Amino acid sequence: MTALVPSTFSEDEADAGRAFWQRIQAELRAAHGEDIYTSWFERIEFEGLAGTVVVLSTPTPFIRHWTQNNYGPEILQRFRKLDSSLTEVRFKVRGALRPKAAQQPGATAPNRAGPAPQASPAPHRQADTPVPTSSNLSGGLEGSPLETRYTFHNLVEGPSNALAVAAAKKVADAQPGDRVPYNPLFISAAVGLGKTHLLQAIANSVRTANPHRRVLYLTAEYFMYRFVQAIRNKSTLSFKDVLREIDILIIDDLQFLNGTKVHEEFGHTLTTLVDSQRQVVIAADRAPNDLDGLEPRVRSRLGGGLLVELDVPDYSMRRHILEHRIAAQKEIFDQLVFPDEVVDFVARSVTTNGRDLDGAVNRLVAHNQLTSTPIDLKMAEIALRDLLKARETRRPKIEDIQRVTSQHFGVSRQDLVSARRTRVIVRPRQIAMYLSKTLTPRSLPEIGRRFGNRDHTTVLHAVRKVEEMIDRDPQVAEDIETLKRLLDQ
Ligand code: ADP
Ligand code: MG
Repeated sequence: MTALVPSTFSEDEADAGRAFWQRIQAELRAAHGEDIYTSWFERIEFEGLAGTVVVLSTPTPFIRHWTQNNYGPEILQRFRKLDSSLTEVRFKVRGALRPKAAQQPGATAPNRAGPAPQASPAPHRQADTPVPTSSNLSGGLEGSPLETRYTFHNLVEGPSNALAVAAAKKVADAQPGDRVPYNPLFISAAVGLGKTHLLQAIANSVRTANPHRRVLYLTAEYFMYRFVQAIRNKSTLSFKDVLREIDILIIDDLQFLNGTKVHEEFGHTLTTLVDSQRQVVIAADRAPNDLDGLEPRVRSRLGGGLLVELDVPDYSMRRHILEHRIAAQKEIFDQLVFPDEVVDFVARSVTTNGRDLDGAVNRLVAHNQLTSTPIDLKMAEIALRDLLKARETRRPKIEDIQRVTSQHFGVSRQDLVSARRTRVIVRPRQIAMYLSKTLTPRSLPEIGRRFGNRDHTTVLHAVRKVEEMIDRDPQVAEDIETLKRLLDQ
């Protein structure tokens, strides 16, 4: 079978496709676990689109053969969930066919295939059935699919999200002609803390309670992808027109927006909508200031709205989230018994986020259904072992390090990344840089950038300096130990 691979793709098109593939890789990792992910999916790259055919490349014929046979349908289904017009996923082996590969930033060297992957068991597993987008309220532009269970009703409120939920409800309840309260509303939080749930709750609520208002929910990848497609079909005008016709534009995972032209387009859309009193709601895994590639005017627009951070749920929220998920499972398996002490055990031990809580419930129910073992503490400890282990080895992010360090030393996070050079700030900043280098996989230049655009040599200097201080000054050594402990929770 010869692949219909065009020789070149536009940069934006490649960016959009890569972003799709990145998301699907993350889904595959979550669905199949780390071992299978690294064996099969990690080194697959997105090559381009040939009409409605997605072209992916693998480093070796063996990986190609295996993934195509065992995971081909699932991968296609996941692509189709993002764009239902796609018809096929084709795999090819990287090599001579790919003259530009070496120049692509972030591409792994094509011939560094490494050892053959272990033949991990490859369950024939169907991807979750996509929820089709039903509404065409947005004048022809389909949004990304909405999950019916992502409603306000199913959303547990608590100290970590109270402000965000209040703002989201206000946005959802606004009537035409009302003053737009917070525009744009920007929600930032780490993965699994409920951004997508909150955003889709707004969309679902508007669709049921205010059906005359045009609401459009798009992931950033989808936004890019549609934009690129519109360019290809020479219909950018109508894409813009559609976007500018809507009352509430919701964009999820803005950190995936990529490409200069796409950013420009996003900037236009944002400005136009906000200027004409239309609501924009955005979520990302970090605050606007930490996002790459935003135009300055976009950054300042975002700064002019309301920025709310979602935090980690406390014990009582975790319990409620679990209760919701268990109730949903009981509707599917009506004989299901899920003892209270196990709910309590999970709520106490899975402390990271809603996604891990979901994962824990799914895991316990699957064990129960497949092996007929009753759900009890002993079974839970075994079934959740690796989830609990994953928590122990969780790596902190630079944001976490900055937050914890600035709290510990009583300086503001702003100061930490500012140009100020007073001693009270320089020391905590150096320590935060040191922790970023030692606890995260980030590079020196990247760390420098995240600390107020400093040079990588400054970071290097900080790391050396702190290493020296740890040896000389017991107080510094103790501070570092405390910070590490705080970051470990
Ligand atoms: P994010 O988009 O921030 O990565 P999601 O919205 O996908 O997170 O949430 C992950 C899972 O956790 C979802 O199943 C979601 O329903 C659940 N979840 C997270 N926070 C809450 C909450 N406050 N109440 C109910 N469920 C939640
Ligand atoms: Mg999300």
